[in-house]
Amino acid sequence: MNPLRVALASLLLATSASAATLAVKVGHLVDPANGAVLDNRVVLIDGKKIVDVVDRMPSPAPATVIDLSSSWVSPGLMDLHTHLSYDYSGTLCANYVEHGNGYRALMGLRRAEDMLAAGFTTVRDLGNAGNYVDTDLRKAIEAGLFVGPTVVNAGKIIAPFGAQQDSAPVEVGPCWNYEYIDADGVDEVRKAVRTNIFYGARVIKLVSDPRGQTHGIYTEEEIRVAADEAHRVGLTLAVHAKEDLTAVPAILGGADSIEHGYTVSDATLKLMKQRGVYLVSTDRPVSHVPLLNLPNPAAAEASARAKVERLRRAYKIGVPLAFGTDVTEDLGGRDRGRMTLDFIQGWIDAGIPSSYIVKAMTINAARVMKLEAERGSIAKGQYADLIATATNPLADARALAAVTFVMKDGEVVSSRRRSH
Ligand SMILES: [Zn+2]
Repeated sequence: MNPLRVALASLLLATSASAATLAVKVGHLVDPANGAVLDNRVVLIDGKKIVDVVDRMPSPAPATVIDLSSSWVSPGLMDLHTHLSYDYSGTLCANYVEHGNGYRALMGLRRAEDMLAAGFTTVRDLGNAGNYVDTDLRKAIEAGLFVGPTVVNAGKIIAPFGAQQDSAPVEVGPCWNYEYIDADGVDEVRKAVRTNIFYGARVIKLVSDPRGQTHGIYTEEEIRVAADEAHRVGLTLAVHAKEDLTAVPAILGGADSIEHGYTVSDATLKLMKQRGVYLVSTDRPVSHVPLLNLPNPAAAEASARAKVERLRRAYKIGVPLAFGTDVTEDLGGRDRGRMTLDFIQGWIDAGIPSSYIVKAMTINAARVMKLEAERGSIAKGQYADLIATATNPLADARALAAVTFVMKDGEVVSSRRRSH
């Protein structure tokens, strides 16, 4: 190498080193986008962001060095479909009477902390969060009042009149309006989206779901208005659609992701592939069924197994997939984070390679939210969201169920909160 090149190289090295206040020595760095592992790397971090990834420790080394040289280090995990401030402890309307907004916010905070401790550095909270407590939760974390994951929140769920209720006596009134906006027709849908944006939503969530066989389904035209309004301000549109009847108009109308898609046909999956629409499958693991005390556990188990087969079909067809879980109760003394990690088994059962599962939980999820320039990989310019595992998750994604280290925005998440 000529002397000028040597000088230039050491200057570049000095620049990276001096800009970094923290270095993480990584034994095996996981690159989900390429399904690759890079051995012996040093991740250089300044403040919240990665300033470089190099192959040896700069000299002088940054002030703080974290040694993960015997671990696999992956980008932080993402759950695209959670409801931090909700559980099934009451019926939809009873929930509002039992739990005020303060309780819902604190419940959400606890779940957010548990998710982060389990390795989820970004979560998309898709509504059912009282009167916009998800916005408050996001703001409190962003302001540094609490350590939590990046929260991409939906605000109130937008649905045709009646939301996810089958029916209600007229005397009760629209109790669901605490956390749903009734919106029928393009003008109401447009106003609902704008209302959510005003109150701090970072993603738009629509529910299109036939209730009592009579109402609840959005037309392609209504979906398109929501998609256009969301996209205009850089947000994305997630549509709850379980079957072909609701999924097809959502796909054609411009949804970025179909949530659930439990019974969709191969023809619909092919349409999703063609349009680049992600499936966020939210399939309850078979292992959770016995914990739920359901009236008909055999039927619930059959339904869980059918969802695994749908995920297998979607992967084979080539639909882009991203990880999501839905309302997950805290059962058997296990918190929301642990329960969420159980969903990995469903992906394994569907025959999906571990390297794709890691992708679905990181870079693909970031792409759904249009956050891939900031999060979802370990590279220069990305936020320093890192997790470590004792074994290679690309070989067996179940390794992610036992993270040994979590870093969020360049800060190590205290092991006290990783008590599981
Ligand atoms: Zn949901």
